[in-house]
Amino acid sequence: MERGLYIVPTPIGNLADITQRAVETLMGVSLIAAEDTRHSRKLLAHYEIETTLCAYHDHVSEQVTEQLLMRMVSGEAVALISDAGTPLVSDPGFRLVRAAQDKNIPIFPLPGPCAAIAALSGAGLPTDRFFFEGFLPAKSQQRRKRLESLQHQTGTLIFYEAPHRILATLADAVEIMGPEREAVLARELSKTFETIKRDSLAALLSWVEADANQQRGEQVLLIGSAPDQLGTELSERDRQLLFRLGDELPPRKVASIVADVTGVKARVLYEQLINREKK
Ligand code: SAM
Repeated sequence: MERGLYIVPTPIGNLADITQRAVETLMGVSLIAAEDTRHSRKLLAHYEIETTLCAYHDHVSEQVTEQLLMRMVSGEAVALISDAGTPLVSDPGFRLVRAAQDKNIPIFPLPGPCAAIAALSGAGLPTDRFFFEGFLPAKSQQRRKRLESLQHQTGTLIFYEAPHRILATLADAVEIMGPEREAVLARELSKTFETIKRDSLAALLSWVEADANQQRGEQVLLIGSAPDQLGTELSERDRQLLFRLGDELPPRKVASIVADVTGVKARVLYEQLINREKK
């Protein structure tokens, strides 16, 4: 096998969700660096993969990282796996990938399972723009601050959440994003009790409160986009400024300057200026 670091996604629940290339890679490399070797042994046994395992997470010593890098520098192929899904997505691996790049070790990221993408594809929320936040802070005050910072973010928001915090997170989201904001809870994807529910944030909160089963298992929370207000609205004062500048300068120039200052799209401002001239 070609020397390098192979980033190999593994199933997020259903053991059958692994690509043929992933299995062949895990069989072919000389070493598999795993987030938790005991956990990964079960998967490897299922696929009769006998490759040696070693532990790797982002807090291993420099020495462990150096040893892995030296093996790849000297021509070996090494795979990186995490407990589930795609390594580096809310999982270890970032430091190793960068360190390997710095030593000109080729990186081969294999496509495969990822809870965020599976949830997004089945959620029924717009997918043209999305923002992956991963885990929110565990403490309420910091969590609320983070949610506030995302309140006006456009695009579907994607969060990972631990089952014992889902109620508290939903309650905070209702308060900060508003009870009517559309959201989806995607639970236990690819497993026996897979559930995908789309409703308003307030309705989702009541549903989870009323049914303790919905608080069990692995969860992805998706929240619909904030309205795209920046696209069209201008305050009355800014509109007066737009028209006043329009008396002095070419409309394209004015639209571009006012767009920079207000965040309203230049195209929208340009149309307003042109339409005013037509009247
Ligand atoms: N690297 C993984 C990936 O690619 O999705 C994510 C690892 S992160 C430590 C684990 C979190 O992913 C869980 O707390 C949960 O939010 C989400 N997750 C993982 N498996 C899931 C599943 N089967 N259903 C729903 N969410 C899942």
